[in-house]
Amino acid sequence: TDTDHEASGEEQSLRTPIVAVLGHVDHGKTSLLDRVRGSAVIEGEAGAITQHIGATAVPLETISEISGALVNPDDFDLPGLLFIDTPGHHSFSTLRARGGALADIAILVVDVNDGFQPQTLEAIDILKRTQTPFIVAANKVDTTPGWNPNENSPIQQSMEAQSDRAESRLNEALYEIIGQLSENDFSADMYWRVRDFQGNVGVVPVSAMTGEGVPDLLAVLMGLSQRYMKEAMAIDVTGPGAGTVLEVKDERGFGKTLDVVLYDGSVRTDDTIVVGGLNEPIVTQVRALLQPRPLAEIRTEKQFEKVPEVRAAAGVKIAAPDLDDAIAGAPVRVVRDQPVAEVVEEVQAELAGLEVETEEE
Ligand code: GDP
Repeated sequence: TDTDHEASGEEQSLRTPIVAVLGHVDHGKTSLLDRVRGSAVIEGEAGAITQHIGATAVPLETISEISGALVNPDDFDLPGLLFIDTPGHHSFSTLRARGGALADIAILVVDVNDGFQPQTLEAIDILKRTQTPFIVAANKVDTTPGWNPNENSPIQQSMEAQSDRAESRLNEALYEIIGQLSENDFSADMYWRVRDFQGNVGVVPVSAMTGEGVPDLLAVLMGLSQRYMKEAMAIDVTGPGAGTVLEVKDERGFGKTLDVVLYDGSVRTDDTIVVGGLNEPIVTQVRALLQPRPLAEIRTEKQFEKVPEVRAAAGVKIAAPDLDDAIAGAPVRVVRDQPVAEVVEEVQAELAGLEVETEEE
């Protein structure tokens, strides 16, 4: 109950679902992420999207502005979506969280003309194995012969506005993709026909070039998260943080730093943390938590600003001593009200799990 939480100092909150983008090379992963970020900047108030370290947060209000009638903010209590900036299934498969996938949900990008390609199949296998819910972005609909672009429009509206010929060419290509999904054991349909997103994969026709279908993509991600992930997103935001290292980087003035996606709890300056290392877990103390400065300030000031605390879900740069042996993909844990040795053991166990996983691949 709430009183129990208050008594123990807990603060229950719903965190942002973490979204990853996968797909075959050149099918448009980067362009689609850029488009989502771009739309959020254009539609939202200044500062509506926040650039994190390694990730971009798009708040519910901004999603609702981009998606218009497709997203009524009153229907949601999840705070938005956090997109991991590095697309590709390689990064996806090395980014784990307590043995599962770091991403709560994924977008599988498929070029609508090219259909399934080798890396699409690899991505499907990884999504299956990690049991990550996903939607398919059937990208580049604007390349359909005779296509008449409608910048940033919801896709059904745009499809209705096409010539019969263009519409049926696109539909053919889309059904090809639906067939390929079904050959890979995923029952799928156009997203607007899907009732049960747990048993069926929704296909969203989009163009990263024109923005058509982007309102739908965000609406479907948001809807799916709200419907099926709400319980998993309920966390104690003041609890000991847990995250995954995206990268280990040298940063002028800070030495080696960790770029981390935090998926649980919080991390504060001076916290003791345990990080997976080359030979053994590293126990160290947070010297600074760094986030990118807002765009407007970058030119005149330093690149990062220090913050006292970061709460999940978020991307953050952690500066701390002794990080030379830290490794990308490793777990990071905050030690709070728990013996250090216990946390070290947990991190060790998680690392052992990671190695087995890598050998299998
Ligand atoms: P990635 O390798 O999956 O990240 O693919 P990119 O985002 O780099 O895109 C590969 C190429 O496809 C680039 O030349 C993009 O400009 C182009 N592209 C991506 N999305 C679209 C789209 O929706 N329409 C068109 N016409 N071209 C696209």
